[in-house]
Amino acid sequence: MNVADSRRLAESLEQYGLSAADGPHDADVVVLYSCVVRQQAEDRVHGQLHALQKMKAARPAMKIVVAGCVSDIPDWRTRYPFVDLIAEPGQDLTVRDRLIDLLDLSERYRFDPEQAVRLPGISEGITVHQGCNRSCTYCIVPSTRGGERSRPPAVIVDEVRRLIERGTREVVLLSQIVERYGRDLRPRVLLSNLLEQLDRLDGLERIRFLTSYPGDFGRDLIDAIADLPKVCEDVNLPIQCGDDDVLRRMKRGYVVDNYRQLIGRLRERMPEIGLATDIIVGFPGETNAEFDNTLQMLDEFRFDVVHVAMYSPRPGTVAATEMIDDIPREEKRRRLHEVEALQKHIATEINSRYLDRSVDVLVEGTAKGRWYGRTRTNKIVHFASEAPLAGALVDVKITSTEPWFLEGVVTSAH
Ligand code: SAH
Repeated sequence: MNVADSRRLAESLEQYGLSAADGPHDADVVVLYSCVVRQQAEDRVHGQLHALQKMKAARPAMKIVVAGCVSDIPDWRTRYPFVDLIAEPGQDLTVRDRLIDLLDLSERYRFDPEQAVRLPGISEGITVHQGCNRSCTYCIVPSTRGGERSRPPAVIVDEVRRLIERGTREVVLLSQIVERYGRDLRPRVLLSNLLEQLDRLDGLERIRFLTSYPGDFGRDLIDAIADLPKVCEDVNLPIQCGDDDVLRRMKRGYVVDNYRQLIGRLRERMPEIGLATDIIVGFPGETNAEFDNTLQMLDEFRFDVVHVAMYSPRPGTVAATEMIDDIPREEKRRRLHEVEALQKHIATEINSRYLDRSVDVLVEGTAKGRWYGRTRTNKIVHFASEAPLAGALVDVKITSTEPWFLEGVVTSAH
């Protein structure tokens, strides 16, 4: 989401005659899109701000803006007085306007997309909805990102059209809780309605969306994924853990069996659907038996991808203020590695079934001299080719499989 939001900001600033600098050292303005979802991420933001402070001491005219996610704004204002603007929760969709004001920009320049410095990628993220109204006890997002609000469908369709004109072939609709898209708009809109509108756009090949919340994933959305040709069979559905007591302490609002039924419905309609999830290990009070339930759940549900994180107490959250962070760091790390080892085994098995099969790949670019792209189910595929293939849909016959990617040879390009 930070990448998508910074792209959108850069594009609108180009309309005011600004262009991308090589790096912060020669920039007139730096907008830092921060993330504080875990302490590790927040530490990186503080590190960057210290580096920027030094640059600004040498070049006082430089402007520094912090956007994205900030935990304690008054505290940050005191610690970083050299920062010119901190976007508060709820203002992140209007950073552009505040920046135009701060830099005293006027629309003197006529924007020419051909001249634009930054070309969008084959696959681009688009923030469609921001904030979260839920109150998971571990999560800082509702306080850093504010309440839920949606961008109107026409604005999103327009942004996607402009991306398509400049070469984008796939869009990933982004939100902290994407099924809630449109419920704050009047008239109300559903995510499935937005998907229908985007599905009609010529030149667009694929549509994905993330991250999903299991409690709001309705039949209409399952139908949209199954029936709309451009919407990919690929769902990111964080479960967080496989134990009902821990889920209750997290205040997730569902039990493992609700989740089991939901992925059952998804797989019944789309047997090959790609499923990814998020797991937190070492939540306060997580016993060995509770952690074992997570391992068993992973073994049963067989996700394609699992993002696993060690519990990190976040200031102001219920878990940080009312629960004791009692799982030692080494034990959290051990559990994290156990989840990773199990998932590696599962992903190896799932991917090995792709051997000798032909898959449809949207080619995104090159890395280390080979092309790469993804299947509709979000498998990364590497292959060699002399032809310029960025943005093409190709059939690739899989010749070798790894837990995190597939390799193959192109059999035809469309
Ligand atoms: N919408 C997502 C939240 C996105 S944040 C949801 O339904 O939970 C991305 C991931 O970071 C979360 O899914 C969670 O696994 C992890 N996370 C959030 N807060 C955390 C914390 N305090 N400690 C460790 N991991 C956390």
